[in-house]
Amino acid sequence: IRYSEDKGWHDAAITARAPITVDPSIAVLHYAQEIFEGLKAYRLDDGGTALFRPDANARRFNNSARRLAMPELPEELFLESCRQLVTTERDWFPQVDGGALYLRPFMFASEAFLGVKPSSEYLYMVIASSVGSYWKGEARAVSIWVSQDYTRAAPGGTGEAKCGGNYAASLAAQQEAIRQGCDQVVFLDAVERRWVEELGGMNVFFVFDDGSMVTPPLTGTILPGITRDSILRIARDQGIEVREELYGIDQWRADAGSGRLTEAFACGTAAVVTPIGEVVGPDGRFTIGGGGTGQLTQRMLDALSAIQRGRAPDPHGWLQRLG
Ligand code: PMP
Repeated sequence: IRYSEDKGWHDAAITARAPITVDPSIAVLHYAQEIFEGLKAYRLDDGGTALFRPDANARRFNNSARRLAMPELPEELFLESCRQLVTTERDWFPQVDGGALYLRPFMFASEAFLGVKPSSEYLYMVIASSVGSYWKGEARAVSIWVSQDYTRAAPGGTGEAKCGGNYAASLAAQQEAIRQGCDQVVFLDAVERRWVEELGGMNVFFVFDDGSMVTPPLTGTILPGITRDSILRIARDQGIEVREELYGIDQWRADAGSGRLTEAFACGTAAVVTPIGEVVGPDGRFTIGGGGTGQLTQRMLDALSAIQRGRAPDPHGWLQRLG
């Protein structure tokens, strides 16, 4: 779907995936005026298909649009574009158990000019890509590397928006994590370099020996994950105490050592829930719990997956069925 200041949103079409031709001076290539979303359509156990919380993605998309000085996309257009694409691509659903159709809606500044200003033309597109089950059977615990020097987002920056620029800033840190033998990077806050914020592409939860959980609050520098929000609600529905509060890296190490912290996990659309088994921090490595998948982590993964597959009641109306 195209946008221009004079015509508004127009020219919606579903086409076969193909390269696009652009002018070398379009704004996105120089100033990174680009935002995106990631969501999944699931095949339900009863044979139907459903999008998981697409309305939440539509709202976050428009929050990102405002932050990047881009026009908002009417929520209904966002939802309709996803629905139509899934319906068209229904035959492409992976037949393997646990597969899903991943949707990547995105919008970028497509006006050709070289000055620094918001574009007056944009292109909104959605890519559909079938993905297999992230986990073969039980979830595998990942190791994470604490980034001391690189931060992902500063107060007042774009950390809360889902824009390409945030990921450009995090790539070198992710590369370093891999060099250190870890799977993922975890970022600390940009001011005190102390508070745990999020992983490169996932939010984080901590589980304590009294059965309570903590996740970092939405201070404006982390992405308000839809999986994070879903886990907060599921945990509260199950009577688990969950606090949104700052949690420091030193405290994390101390609590893991004393046994007060029993589990930690990351969450996001791609992997749903990922146990964190080991942390490589400024003062060396430490293991969490037994280094495997904790009980509460598995419980959150199972509970959320069951809703996403239509195997459990959906008390919050998260599934949007497509028939
Ligand atoms: N944080 C970052 C930086 C991410 O890229 C993602 C993935 N979108 C998340 C958190 C998790 O968000 P969600 O649960 O909406 O996928």
